[in-house]
Amino acid sequence: MARQLQDRAAQAASGDGPVDLCIINTCTVTGKASMQSRQAVRRATRANPNARIVVTGCYAQTAPQEILDIPGVDLVLGNDGKPRIADMVCNRPADPPSAAAAATAMLEDQRMSRSGRTDRARPFLKIQDGCNARCSYCIVPVARGVSRSLPVEDALSSIERLNEAGYPEIVLTGIHLGHYGLDLDPPSNLLSLLKAIRQLQSARRVRLSSIEPQELTGDLIRFVASAAAGPSAICPHFHVPLQSGDDDILRRMNRPYTREFFRELILRIKHHLPDASVGVDVLVGFPGESEAAFENTCALLDELPVTYLHVFPFSRRSGTPADLLPDQVPAAVLKARCRQIRLIGYNKKLEYYTYFINKTLEVVAESIVDADNGWMKGTSANYLPVMFRGRAEQIRTIVPVRIERVDLQGGVTGTVVS
Ligand code: SF4
Repeated sequence: MARQLQDRAAQAASGDGPVDLCIINTCTVTGKASMQSRQAVRRATRANPNARIVVTGCYAQTAPQEILDIPGVDLVLGNDGKPRIADMVCNRPADPPSAAAAATAMLEDQRMSRSGRTDRARPFLKIQDGCNARCSYCIVPVARGVSRSLPVEDALSSIERLNEAGYPEIVLTGIHLGHYGLDLDPPSNLLSLLKAIRQLQSARRVRLSSIEPQELTGDLIRFVASAAAGPSAICPHFHVPLQSGDDDILRRMNRPYTREFFRELILRIKHHLPDASVGVDVLVGFPGESEAAFENTCALLDELPVTYLHVFPFSRRSGTPADLLPDQVPAAVLKARCRQIRLIGYNKKLEYYTYFINKTLEVVAESIVDADNGWMKGTSANYLPVMFRGRAEQIRTIVPVRIERVDLQGGVTGTVVS
């Protein structure tokens, strides 16, 4: 969205002074996210009383009236409005719609990639949007619609342009990445796309964002294992949502796998990729989650060689089946359980990071954090956030860093080796 506006000669504001136009891109994945979105809108209207205030994103898509009720808001747009946001706020006629323009903000990402401009050293390329699943707690299918994929040739040309522009790593993202390609004609899939990416002359490092357990097939794991090293690696990093380690809760969540399936999956990943990073989402306090069910989740996570956890407290979302379920978990219990799971995640992360002390990792240098002392930060192929001393010209390159220290906060430091 910023780039669309910059193409119309708008200037990004810096500092805290009032602005002429303020776009707030909202989230609604939890009740807290919706609340924070409303707070952001109110803050923007207060700080910029003369600005046009435009609100978009998933909260705007699902609850437009709640945003329109906030005094000072000028325009509310759903996600489909994002590719045309510059036309709408600049009061200029829209470009003629192309065949694909009916789709989503995904196409805007693609346009961004084509232009080869992004501020990140590891740009995200959204290749899929929407979700056909119906997890009983989730509002995302309402906010994002059905699964849609970027055509294979468009994905490949976007990746090629980013490669040629010199980005050392691309992160492939989607709401339901494992469904990539199923809606295309002819159908495709994520594994075929990864194979095609590896065939590109310009191939660089690629990372997958979150992928559902049932879609992380043996073939996909083996392919990543065969391509997990070097400057054109598929990063040995999987982020797999578990949500609960209790079969009854998984059924009630409408999640299509069991605790044992998940257990075997993680062990299979580690069998093929012993050093891989395996992140796991955990949804704590789903309605009816008994002490025993919660302990099942803790025991499974304790046992498995996962490397970090993202912990989400259950949040009632109006319009989802779980909102109507009895046996909601009391807030104090929810909080205590989140704390317990986060502690498991903290220990797993420290253990994993510490394992790499005295080993050398391929790190994308992303930014300078302390110019006076030359400290930079970057991300290794297996997803360690690494601090090291380097030079500005190393940004957007892959540098070998020998890991030397892991502190109790999980900070990882190392030294560039020649
Ligand atoms: S698969 Fe993910 S996005 Fe789709 S409904 Fe389930 S939790 Fe939501």
